[in-house]
Amino acid sequence: MHANYIAGHWVEGDGITRNINPSDTADVVGIYTQATLSQVDDAIAAAEAAAPAWGSTTALQRADMLDAIGTELIARKDELGRLLAREEGKTLAEATGEAWRAGTIFRFFAAEAVRLRGDRLPQLRPGVDVDITREPVGVVGLITPWNFPLAIPAWKIAPALAFGNTVVLKPADLVPGCAWALADIISRSGVPPGVFNLTMGRGAVVGQAILDDPRVAAISFTGSAATGKRIAEAAMRRLAKVQMEMGGKNPLVILDDADIERAVDCAVQGSFFSTGQRCTASSRLIVQRGIHDRFVAAMKARMASLRTDNALLPGTDIGPVVDARQLQQNEDYLRIGRDEGATLVQGGERLRRDTDGFYFSPALLTDCDNSMRVCREEIFGPVAAVIPVDSYEEALAVANDTEYGLSAGICTGSLKHATHFKRHAQVGLVTVNCPTAGADHHAAFGGRKGSSYGSREQGTYAAEFYTTVKTAYTAP
Ligand code: NAD
Repeated sequence: MHANYIAGHWVEGDGITRNINPSDTADVVGIYTQATLSQVDDAIAAAEAAAPAWGSTTALQRADMLDAIGTELIARKDELGRLLAREEGKTLAEATGEAWRAGTIFRFFAAEAVRLRGDRLPQLRPGVDVDITREPVGVVGLITPWNFPLAIPAWKIAPALAFGNTVVLKPADLVPGCAWALADIISRSGVPPGVFNLTMGRGAVVGQAILDDPRVAAISFTGSAATGKRIAEAAMRRLAKVQMEMGGKNPLVILDDADIERAVDCAVQGSFFSTGQRCTASSRLIVQRGIHDRFVAAMKARMASLRTDNALLPGTDIGPVVDARQLQQNEDYLRIGRDEGATLVQGGERLRRDTDGFYFSPALLTDCDNSMRVCREEIFGPVAAVIPVDSYEEALAVANDTEYGLSAGICTGSLKHATHFKRHAQVGLVTVNCPTAGADHHAAFGGRKGSSYGSREQGTYAAEFYTTVKTAYTAP
C-alpha cells in the first residue's frame, strides 16, 4: 500500500486505488491509498503551520533542496520512465523523456529561486523610497491530470517551493504512482515536514476539499474544461488566487507551399504521439486544397508504418489509450464524425496484442468541416480531422474558429504567412514548421479563451502565480 505524505509522515487513508497498466490490464502497478477528509484537513493544517518558516528560508537553502530533487529525478529517469510508461501508457522513450524533463524543471527552478527580483522605483515624494518585493502566496493547492503524471506535478511543485510556498498536491486518481514516487524523493530532499504534502484520491472528494478550504490561498489546476469551470466557481466564491490550464482543439495549418515531409512529421508527431493524449495535440489539420490529396496519401502511408503496442516494448511508436472509458470515447467520436459526413481513411480500430490492453490505431478523418463535433470538441485520443480550405485567409479563420486557444501551428515556406499567423493565431503557443505539441520548460506555457485562465505556467513567468507583489514606501 502506498500511503499519503502528510506533515512529514506516511499515512494510510480510507479506500484504495488499484493502478492498472493500460498496456497489460493483468499488471497492477501498485495499490494506492485515498485520503480521508480529515487527512486533507491535516495536510492543509501542516502546510499552513510550515509556511512562515519555509517562507523565511534563504533562496539558497531552497535552491539546494530543489536541486537535490531534480538531480535524483534525472539519475533515476530510466526507472521512473518505466513506472510512468506502465501506469499511463506512453512509450518508454516518451516516459523517460518526461522523467528527465521533470528533473530539469526542478533544477531550473532551483536557479529561479535565487534569481527572483524585486524593483526599486524613483521617489515621487521627497525622502520616500519605493520598493517592490515578491512574497510567497502561502499554501497552494495543486490539482493535476493523468496525461503527464510527472512533468505537470513538477512544473507546479518546483516554482511553488522555489518561491517559498507550501504545497498540498492532489494527483489524478488514474496515475498516482509517479506522484507518489515524486513525494518519496521530496521527503528525502531536506524539505521540512509540512512544506510538501501528498493527498491522493478522487477529485470530487479530495480535490474539492482542497478547493473549498479557506487556508489554501491559491489553486493551480490542470485538467478538462468541464472540471475547470467547477474549480473556477469554487475559487471565485472565496476569492482564492487561481490558475487553470484546460483542454485544446489545436489546429495545424498546412499550406500549399509547405515541405510535405516536414508537414507529415509535424502532423504525425503532434496528433498521435503520446497516443494523442496531450492538451496541445493537433486534432484539426487544416490543409490547403493544392496539397490536400498528396498530404492525406503521405499521412496514410506514415500512419500505416506506426507500431501501436505495449508501451514497454522497444519498437512501439504509439502506446495504448489510458483506460477503457477513453477508448470508448475515441470510438464514439469516430462514429459521430462519420454520422456527420466525415470519412475514416486510416486506423481507428481496436487492436489485439500479446497482452490485454486498450490498443487503438491512430485515426485520420477526412472531408471534415469545422462545424462538426469532431472539430469542435476535445477528443483527447489519437484522432485527427482533416479540414480542406482554399486559402491562407480561410485557414486562419478556421484555426481561430474554436472556443479553445492553447496551441496552433503552421507549415509553410512563406515568411509572410508564418509572420502573419504568429501575430493573428488566437492562442498562447504558436509554432511554425514544428508540431503544436512539445514545449520547453524555460518558456511561458498556457493558452487563451476556453483553454486557460490566470497567469502563465513555467519559465520565469511562473513567478506571477507563485508570488504576490508588495509595494513598500519608506521614509528613513
Ligand atoms: P479532469 O478534469 O478529469 O481531472 C483533472 C484533475 O481534477 C484530477 O486530479 C481530478 O481528480 C481533479 N478533479 C476532478 N473533479 C474535481 C473537483 N470537483 N474538485 C477538485 N478537483 C477535481 O482531467 P483529466 O481527465 O485528468 O485530464 C485530461 C484533461 O486535461 C484534458 O482536457 C487535457 O486537455 C487537459 N490538460 C491540459 C493541459 C494544459 O496545460 N492546458 C495539460 C494536460 C492536460
